[in-house]
This record gives sequence, structure tokens and C-alpha cells, in this order.
Amino acid sequence: MTVRTRFAPSPTGYLHIGGARTALFNFLFARRHKGAYLLRIEDTDRERSTKEAVDQILESLEWLGLTPDEPPVFQASREARHAEIAHALLAMGKAYRCWATPEELAQMREQAAAEGRPPRYDRRWRDREPGPEQEGKPFAIRIKAPLEGETVVQDLVQGEVRVRNSELDDMIILRSDGTPTYLHAVVVDDHDMEITHVIRGDDHLTNTFRQCMVYDAMGWRRPHFAHIPLIHGADGAKLSKRHGAVSVLDFRDQGYLPEAVCNYLLRLGWGHGDEEVVPRERAIELFDLKDVGRAPSRMDYAKLTHLNGIYLRQADDARLTRAVLETLARRGVLFGTDGAKRVAMLMPDLKERARTIEELAGSAAFAAHEGPPVMDAKALALLTPEAKARLADLAEFLADAPWEKADLEHWLRDYAEVKQVKLKDVAQPLRVALSGSTTSPPINAVLWALGRDESLLRINAAAA
Ligand code: GLU
Repeated sequence: MTVRTRFAPSPTGYLHIGGARTALFNFLFARRHKGAYLLRIEDTDRERSTKEAVDQILESLEWLGLTPDEPPVFQASREARHAEIAHALLAMGKAYRCWATPEELAQMREQAAAEGRPPRYDRRWRDREPGPEQEGKPFAIRIKAPLEGETVVQDLVQGEVRVRNSELDDMIILRSDGTPTYLHAVVVDDHDMEITHVIRGDDHLTNTFRQCMVYDAMGWRRPHFAHIPLIHGADGAKLSKRHGAVSVLDFRDQGYLPEAVCNYLLRLGWGHGDEEVVPRERAIELFDLKDVGRAPSRMDYAKLTHLNGIYLRQADDARLTRAVLETLARRGVLFGTDGAKRVAMLMPDLKERARTIEELAGSAAFAAHEGPPVMDAKALALLTPEAKARLADLAEFLADAPWEKADLEHWLRDYAEVKQVKLKDVAQPLRVALSGSTTSPPINAVLWALGRDESLLRINAAAA
């Protein structure tokens, strides 16, 4: 059996972080078993589904590196097939036509409420033949729920779950307007897509029993089910915007790396010993549904940021430079080819200190733009008359310095020694003059990246 999984988002909004984790688990499970990972866009809710949401979902998955192995299936395009199966069930006697009117259904609900029962269709058409008054009237198709026994599902995460069949209802599979219901469409699609493992949020667990009715009635083999716990906020409430970023693209825009987001999502509710850094290849090697926990996970932004810093330090410098330059351009920082080159030269040092691309861009801005940097308050406070005099002296001294990273370090050490000052009292005024801030990469690296002319220009400007 070739493993086939699917991620099945409804395009009614952006892809949120919980959905991303579901996609990731489907992807990893398929890869682990050398199977296929598919995408189905569940766009049957015409009113709420939008093209923008579809595009956002595709863009998010691409950013996460979770693009499907086959072109996406659009559920709405398969309505004829859903109807065909509903009619097949009807022909097999596993489903029946129902002419109950909206008024009748409302009455059933009211009566159930009055008797303190859950609202349920009373099966009035299950064994009844239509009369002349039903002639030409539209009807819904309902499935015949099993009346006795139990439905048992061996969920790969939740363990054995069961329901008494008396609690199942004769759900509608095809509405009187000919459109399929969602629970029916999902089963037909999963069957036709030859899905072997349905891995999804545990909010769908109760749907599973009703979906089993369709599988069983058609004589189709049920897939394996795995219902994974949802992601909550740090306070245990359902994750929402007030906790922080929730949409995948927000994480991208806030400067997270996709591999860090995936690693974080993986570790949220899945574990292999105490391995925290689990890059994709390793995750594919290790991923097993039996290691997914059953308790809801809590989103911890600080932990994600920490993990992002780890990935940032391992990331390719050219890639980070591109991302930083894009961010700076978005922020309206003006820079030319020199500026871009300087950022690239400083990247190995800059990335040691940052935890996100946003932070990285913040610390790189001084190198990108031309001319003296904008000073922050702390930097300004350091520019005492004494520091300015020191800078003027340094400008002269540096005019003849050899402009190589290591040489510059020695040059500054020599200066401090000759002048009998602490290296810090040389480096800090320089740092302020060059970067406009009291923190920066090592000062010799900053000098080297800025180049002699730009460095001297900035030092002289600060000394003036
Ligand atoms: N479309 C459903 C959702 O977005 C998923 C259904 C499923 O995975 O079976 O929650």
C-alpha cells in the first residue's frame, strides 16, 4: 500500500498556524513512508470561499516548503461525482429520499428541545413511499444510519474511539437543490484520491463517525484516521490574533524563517527525546504519529523566536542578505550597490546577534544606507566632547590603516596601546559614529565592510 495523505483546507480565510501544522504532519508522514502528500481545497461553501484565500493558502504552503505532490483538487469541481455517489447509495437501498419540509424539520427541532433531546430528524421517510403529493417535488437524499451496534475507530493519535450507532442520524448527503453536503463530499473525495491516512485537527473527530457511514455503506475501505490536538494560546484559549501572529504569512512578514516555523510546529505536540532542533530531513526520518501527544499544545512565541535565531545562524549568508535587503527596501531605507555589498560583507557577524530577519534588518540598516547614520539616544549621549576628540584623532590614524578585517583589529589595538586607553574607549565612539548605535558587530568588521572612505566620512561627521 502506498501511503497517500492530504491537507484539506477550506479557503474561507488565511492559512493559520494550526492548519500549517496539519499540513506539515501530512507531509512528513507521507515522506516518511515514501508516499504522496496531496492538497484538496474544500471550496464547497461558495459564499465564504474566496480566490484570495486560495492564493494565500498556496503562497503559504509554498513558503513553508509544503507544496503538494500533485495538482490541488478543488472540491467544488467534483459536485457531479458527489451526487453520483449519493444516487448510487439510493439505488443500493443504503440511502433514501426525504421530502420533509423546512416547517416539519423546524417542528422536529422544537419538539426535541422541549423534550430535552438533541435535535434529530425523526426518519419519517426512511421506510415510506412517496404519495401523489410528492410528485415532482424536490427531495434530499439521506443516508440510512445503522440503528444498532457501535462504530469504532482506531485513531492513530486518540486511540480507540467509539460511538453508539443510535446516536448517529440519517444525515443528508445530497440537498434538495442537488448540492452535496460537506461530510459526504469529503468521503467521496478521500476515496477517489485514494487517501490512506486522514490526518487532521481533532475538531473533526466527531465527523469521523458520520463519514464512516458513507464508507461503510459504499463498501469502501475506511482510511486510517489521526486526529491531532489543536494549538492554543499561552493562556489555553483558542489561538487568535490577540496572542500574536496566527496567519502563516504574518510569521513570514515578521521575519521568521520557514524552516524554523516548521521545526517549531513539529515540536509543538510531537517529540523525539529532547531534540529541539529537528531539521526537515531529520524530521522525515523520525516522524511517527504515535509520538504525537493528545493534549492541546500552547503556542510559545518566545520559544519560536529562540529557535528562529538558531536557524538564522545556520542560514546561508546570501539568502539572508537578500531577505534583509528586501525588508529594508520595504521599510523605505534607500541604498545602492555599495550598501548592498556592505550588508553582505557584514552578514556573518550580523547574524550572530539577531533572532529574526526583522531584527537582522534593523541591525543592518546603518550599513546599507549612504552617509552618517541616524543616531539613537544612547549613541548621542556617548558623543561627549572627549569622544569627539578621540574620533578626530582616530580619523587621522585610520587614514593610513591597511583595510583588511584582521589588520584593522590589530591597528586599533596598537592605537589603544600607544595612546594608553582602553580598547572599549576606542571602539565605542567608533561604533556610535559608524552605526549610530551602541551595539553592532565587531568594530573592525564594521570598518572593513563600510570601506575607508565611508568610514572616515562617518567618523569625521561625528567628530564635528
Ligand atoms: N476543510 C476542513 C477544514 O478546513 C478539513 C476537513 C478534513 O481535513 O477532513 O477544517
